Amino acid sequence: MTGQVQLDSYDDGGLLVAVATINALAIRHVFGRPAPTGDEFEAIAQALAIDPPSAAVLRAEDVPGFVVLAGQLKEVFDDLDRDDVDAAAVRLNNLLTAHPAHPHLAKEQGRWRVHHHASDAELVPMATSICAEGIARFIGAGNAGRLGTCKATNCDRVYVDLSKNGSRRFCSTACQNRVKAAAFRERQSGLQAAE
Ligand SMILES: [Zn+2]
Repeated sequence: MTGQVQLDSYDDGGLLVAVATINALAIRHVFGRPAPTGDEFEAIAQALAIDPPSAAVLRAEDVPGFVVLAGQLKEVFDDLDRDDVDAAAVRLNNLLTAHPAHPHLAKEQGRWRVHHHASDAELVPMATSICAEGIARFIGAGNAGRLGTCKATNCDRVYVDLSKNGSRRFCSTACQNRVKAAAFRERQSGLQAAE
């Protein structure tokens, strides 16, 4: 059994890997600062950490493909940030057409399980298919409004809003607190100016 098959067996892993991949490779600002330009290979390995066997088969030559994938997935979130679900759907359908899944049964330790890609599938096309399908399923379930981009200044991180009322606006409590603190300072300076 290869690591590729492992990633394939996640039901909702595609959405989480998509978000992690975008945040690792396709954003310019994080938490109010320019995104650190670090080791892309390490960043992808961390994004794939949800599935250690896939992270383990990641090769240096996969890096450019993941950078492209991250950019394509970010465009989907950008569409959603503009409430343009139609455009996001077109983009996702294009990705799904270019990288189709092939559902089939495979025997794993004596048990039949559904896999969506061949055991020797290339990592990047498979990750593209799985990420696009993960986002597509989430939108198809009526949750497009829960795929968000951080509203804090100078932060483009994306997130999945799993809160009860779906009212999340920031990627993290760090950004939420930063915005609150800035609003507080603004009110304070407004009061002082009025005195
Ligand atoms: Zn943020």
